[in-house]
Amino acid sequence: MAEEIYRELTKLCGKDLEQAENEEIYAALLNLVQTQSRKQEVPVTGRKLYYISAEFLIGKLLSNNLINLGLYDDVKAALSKAGKNLSDIEELENEPSLGNGGLGRLAACFLDSLATMNLPGDGIGLRYHCGLFHQNFSDGLQSTTPDYWLNGVDWTERTEKVYPVTLAGKEYKARLYKLAVTGYEGRTNSLNLFDLDTIDESVIQEGIHFDKTKIEQNLTLFLYPDDSDEEGRLLRIYQQYLMVSAGAQMILEECAARGCDFHNLADYAAIQINDTHPSMVIPELIRLLGENGIEFEEAVQIVTDTCAYTNHTILAEALETWPRHYLDEVVPQLMPIIEKLDALVREKTPDAVTYIIDSENRVHMAHMDIHFSHSTNGVAALHTQILKDTELANFYRLYPEKFNNKTNGITFRRWLLKCNQELAAEIEHLIGPGFKKNADELEKLMQYTEDDAVLNKLYMIKKDNKKALADWLWRKQGVKTNPDAMFLIQSKRLHEYKRQQLNLLFLIHQYYEIRAGHTPATPIVSIFGAKAAPAYVIAQDIIHALLTLSKVIAEDPEVSKWMQIVFVENYNVTAAEKMIPACDLSEQISLASKEASGTGNMKFMLNGALTLGTMDGANVEIAERVGTGNIYIFGQTSNQVIRRYADGDYCAREWYEGDPNIRRAIDFLTSEQMLAAGHEENLARLKNELTGKDWFQTLPDFNAYIVRKTQAMQDYATNPRAWTRSALINIAQAGFFSSDRTIAEYNNDIWHLDK
Ligand SMILES: *Cc1c(COP(=O)(O)O)cnc(C)c1O
Repeated sequence: MAEEIYRELTKLCGKDLEQAENEEIYAALLNLVQTQSRKQEVPVTGRKLYYISAEFLIGKLLSNNLINLGLYDDVKAALSKAGKNLSDIEELENEPSLGNGGLGRLAACFLDSLATMNLPGDGIGLRYHCGLFHQNFSDGLQSTTPDYWLNGVDWTERTEKVYPVTLAGKEYKARLYKLAVTGYEGRTNSLNLFDLDTIDESVIQEGIHFDKTKIEQNLTLFLYPDDSDEEGRLLRIYQQYLMVSAGAQMILEECAARGCDFHNLADYAAIQINDTHPSMVIPELIRLLGENGIEFEEAVQIVTDTCAYTNHTILAEALETWPRHYLDEVVPQLMPIIEKLDALVREKTPDAVTYIIDSENRVHMAHMDIHFSHSTNGVAALHTQILKDTELANFYRLYPEKFNNKTNGITFRRWLLKCNQELAAEIEHLIGPGFKKNADELEKLMQYTEDDAVLNKLYMIKKDNKKALADWLWRKQGVKTNPDAMFLIQSKRLHEYKRQQLNLLFLIHQYYEIRAGHTPATPIVSIFGAKAAPAYVIAQDIIHALLTLSKVIAEDPEVSKWMQIVFVENYNVTAAEKMIPACDLSEQISLASKEASGTGNMKFMLNGALTLGTMDGANVEIAERVGTGNIYIFGQTSNQVIRRYADGDYCAREWYEGDPNIRRAIDFLTSEQMLAAGHEENLARLKNELTGKDWFQTLPDFNAYIVRKTQAMQDYATNPRAWTRSALINIAQAGFFSSDRTIAEYNNDIWHLDK
């Protein structure tokens, strides 16, 4: 097989592999993979799923696709025969960062699972020319540059299909690009991405700023442009409608080609609406069905039977509502339909909280989704419960049968087989290859919890992964880290609810303790990875405080023997794949009730990290599975938090003034050392936020966090065998968090697709 691949690549390069440049080999490999993928395409019979999402954070594709096609080892062998290295070639691939974080990454994991499980399910999204911005640190601050990922060869294949889409009365042509999604020993589905031919990168001014009024040139230029001003918010509606209108036309066309007469659309198509960004697909489909001669009332029923909605957050600011005049301006053709849908709701219920158009003329996208789809799901057990009990209680009363939970998952192909090949090989050695497609088989590892040889091996694998991360950090950022130290990692988007600031306060506390001669049980390396939305001021301040503290510590020889802070620049899927296998302690410290699920927590667990976390999102389900002895739980419960918000009696200043440890840590932000290394404006503003507001209740969890984290450090240092045993239990219990399980549940309860 390796011989054959060698010949094939030589042919594709047009020269001996030995003589080919890595760029040429990359292009040849891409070609080879695309040809192989196409062979796995399967004609669809029965219902087909369309997963519509504004984001697909797919990550690099080369190695993942090679693994899924069963070609990885042979390609590696063929290349090495020619003196080439697959990982050097992989470096040349630009990561398609077509998502912000967890929500987009979930969509990518789902596509992998659908194809692996041989289910007919395509993605529908946008082909952004620049993915999530590139993050640099300079002068202790985040700076942002455009992420051009389409320069050179890329994985999207241009088609001749174009769909007309009318925006603000003007017609645009949405061109379809296809990206092959190949499952692990499975079929090939498609990620359908729409784009305009007229996009022009020259409208980008400085950094990631651009002329937001030039729709023709900028519509798909950026993932989620800054929406802190009106033009940015309008552009978002333009993007959303381009996606759903072209997507809806494509769905109808495909179904018609398979014999659908549109009255029976729901037998041919299932549409999953990933958060509210694609919600306009509901009125758009009703509009298109109307053009095909279907009466409004019937169209509403057809669309309701076809669509299902996933809710991803209870953060009020993230539940999209649009001022009506925005929609009047951009999509006037939808407004009469949205009004008629709102009228149906008003006939049905006197509960004004559930209306689509409220008394201030704002349009609530989630409300439209819940009324006019047949399923609403949350993404972890606790999250779904909170939706039913509080956030969406009025809807739950109307439609208890529509509500269901689908706890998120991750694909084990990328997050184990690809990113942690040494661990995957050891697991296969112990329990055979079945776990790759049947994740529950990981439980067979439980028979090794008392096996010293296995525990030693796991310990060595973790050490190797820590060395690999240390090498990578050195090459990429010029930072030296000690792989014998304990690696604690908090990597995820920067947001106050995720509470990087709590971690920051711990690190200041630790700094003081070391200065006072109370050295920790183990040296620690605290590693962060996080991008902050450009308009999110306090998030920038938290980054600045961490970078500044990192500098203060590095310059203090006494303290830096014991602790180090590393902030990985430009956290993305590629970085996550390096960081997660090297983690000892996974920091999942969001304010209970705020993290809908989290999926980072699952990736770390699967790679043998122990979790330090609150009882939030899927942490609750992780704790249930591993048992409280194999996870470090701390902090307020979601009920306590929700009560505190309801009572409105949380006063950060009282905690600050009443607790000397808290005061000492917060005051340090504006200490002489910090001001000498950083910027007063940022540090003082953060201090002010923490003492004056602290909306995400950092301070009430401060002491409990210190106690639990100190305990974890102690356990790690004093009993490595017990630590590794817990790590093994975490791996063995991770099977539930495979996205294959999640997809099987969606299919059984919502989609009902045929293989
Ligand atoms: C998994 C992942 C996330 C989501 O992390 P959470 O901890 O669940 O917020 C965000 N970004 C990247 C690059 C990821 O791989």
